[in-house]
Amino acid sequence: MKRPATNIGICQAFPGALLCTLWLKICLALVLSIGLTSAVACSKATSADAAAPKSELPAAASPAPQPWAPDSAPLPHIDSKRAFQYTREVTAFGERYIGNENHKKLERYIIDHLKGDQVEDDAFTADTVEGKFPVRNIIAKFSGTKDGIIVIMGHYDTNYWLRGTGYVGANDGGSSTAILLEYANQLRGARSGDGSGKKREGYSVWLVWTDGEEAVKSWSQTDGLYGTRHLAQQWEKDGTLKKIKALMVMDMIGDADLDILRDTNSTPWLLDLIHGAAERLGYQSHFYVYEAPIDDDHLPFVKRGVPSADVIDLDYGYHNVFHHTSQDTMDKLSPKSLEIVGDTTLETIHLLDQR
Ligand SMILES: [Zn+2]
Repeated sequence: MKRPATNIGICQAFPGALLCTLWLKICLALVLSIGLTSAVACSKATSADAAAPKSELPAAASPAPQPWAPDSAPLPHIDSKRAFQYTREVTAFGERYIGNENHKKLERYIIDHLKGDQVEDDAFTADTVEGKFPVRNIIAKFSGTKDGIIVIMGHYDTNYWLRGTGYVGANDGGSSTAILLEYANQLRGARSGDGSGKKREGYSVWLVWTDGEEAVKSWSQTDGLYGTRHLAQQWEKDGTLKKIKALMVMDMIGDADLDILRDTNSTPWLLDLIHGAAERLGYQSHFYVYEAPIDDDHLPFVKRGVPSADVIDLDYGYHNVFHHTSQDTMDKLSPKSLEIVGDTTLETIHLLDQR
């Protein structure tokens, strides 16, 4: 997601961490007080070398009282060992930036795990500052009995600008690819009857492995989110956007020290619903202790009025030091984190189905 490769803006002017942190405080206070107009500049500051230490991030406000009634449906439970194994296998492909051979291998790996499912492509050529690249969003559709669609997304590419550095993106790209594969297993298993023609009870759920999420050179309005900017346009044209009840993005959700932040670019009621789902599972301590505005795959949909939430932990290592570095490796992740996010997301789908 969401950050310039070469970061950092004003923090570079101050070598001392203290000054940088001070700026960060001021910047985040501005974000909170004047809203999104300052979000772009400030997200650069938060992204700096450089995400704030936990103690410096602003505390999120308490979620609103829950607007749904409890029910007696069994709580969901993903197979976190299997999801972790997927993460390991995806990461083992190595660098998976758009256009490279490992990326193609990973496309085949994803498709191979969706045998018997309804799978579609949104493939096109992206024109970037580094040239033209093939981009391919992979969509698996699980039909439901209710009219409307819930979309879950996660990107599978790694950064072009990190090519040749040994970067493998276990958390950033790996965990999101893997958790969606596990959701496919769960959705397949939950269909009534057998065979792909059967439907789940509730809304249709579409899983989207997004491509070209990362910038090829430096994060900007036109560098990054290649796949979702294209897909949002397509879905606007063909009327799909109007049918989407909720859209959730999974990104960097495998960190063993899991703290999903409250993204102020997301739709508040959907964030609250996710928190409610986490509460039902006893996982709420991993959600929304801190808040910040995040640029991620949900933005092209937020801009078009689709209720959307970014489920992301952007505090990956002390001061976010593992993010976009060769330290983003499997040993930093845990199956439990995948389980917390996975179960919470499935429970959120259940709560959405009741609405
Ligand atoms: Zn990234």
